[in-house]
Amino acid sequence: MPPPCAASAASLLPIEAIAMSPPATAVVRDRLRIAIQKSGRLSDPARALLAACGLSWRESRDRLFCHGESLPIDLLLVRDDDIPGLIADGICDLGVVGNNVLVEQGGERVARGLAPAYRAMRQLGFGGCRLDLAVPDAWDWTGPSQLQGKRIATSYPSILAAWLREQQIDAAVVVLSGSVEIAPRLAQADAVCDLVSSGATLAANQLKPVMTLLESQAVLAGPVAEFDDVRGELAAMLLRRLDGVLRQKDSRLLLFQTQRSQLAGLMRLLPDVDAPTVMQVDGGDALALQALCHGSMTWQRLEDLKRAGARGLMVLPVERMLA
Ligand code: ATP
Ligand code: ZN
Repeated sequence: MPPPCAASAASLLPIEAIAMSPPATAVVRDRLRIAIQKSGRLSDPARALLAACGLSWRESRDRLFCHGESLPIDLLLVRDDDIPGLIADGICDLGVVGNNVLVEQGGERVARGLAPAYRAMRQLGFGGCRLDLAVPDAWDWTGPSQLQGKRIATSYPSILAAWLREQQIDAAVVVLSGSVEIAPRLAQADAVCDLVSSGATLAANQLKPVMTLLESQAVLAGPVAEFDDVRGELAAMLLRRLDGVLRQKDSRLLLFQTQRSQLAGLMRLLPDVDAPTVMQVDGGDALALQALCHGSMTWQRLEDLKRAGARGLMVLPVERMLA
């Protein structure tokens, strides 16, 4: 069992209590603390990503605080909505959260006259969704001006209000914490502004998406200010590994041989590869190349390369990368 610590106690506080706590200005710690969603869409991919970066942790019985074993990096398991506030208060150093939550709460801070306290440091490639405006199927959508004087239900009042201001539309924002898509059927609202991935939930409620206010995915969030203790080095190491893992995910190593005279033609077929390593074979015109490619290397592309003079083509998976 890890020793009881301030973090696990703080994570039990409701977000209002955390927001009211004094700003943690002079926090000095020798371990890094990352907040991730306790249970929900982002929990498993966040854990898998951190594990791929070499982190391992001991589960504690209360399952709110996981002590890092392989590195001095601990996890705090919380509701996703609490993550920006935990970073703003210095209770957590980093967090994995949907950019939708970060943008919404960032907007709320600005509206309350507070300085920005967190930023998205990396896009993580999972948790993809859109914040869409959706109207009843029966509406003949002609444009945003149709929303004038209407009621729009949402859990994202700050993003919606900013968009309405931009469009110069005066509409009532009905704030709901969940089940937003049912609001028009309950006559609570005329339209909704909600997170959508497949659109199936909207369709099941006789709604259709008409505008996208925000494209979102999970991000690694961190404070605006740099860490001025050992956490800075830990965060830099984690980011280096994270960059390697994210790049490695869609990377393949391409190996082939060719003649010097055919090199330029082949490189024109490989605009998306990193600068290849070119080795001379037997001191003559024969060359061996290795290059990192991103995205898929299809059979069709290999056929094209072969026609252009590549021999012995091989595509290998990349296990690990560190720049
Ligand atoms: P919590 O109990 O932590 O507050 P939650 O119900 O708010 O959980 P989830 O539904 O697990 O959270 O969604 C977490 C995040 O997943 C969202 O903030 C968003 O970034 C992302 N996401 C991806 N697709 C969807 C979707 N179809 N609906 C909602 N969120 C989605
Ligand atoms: Zn939530």
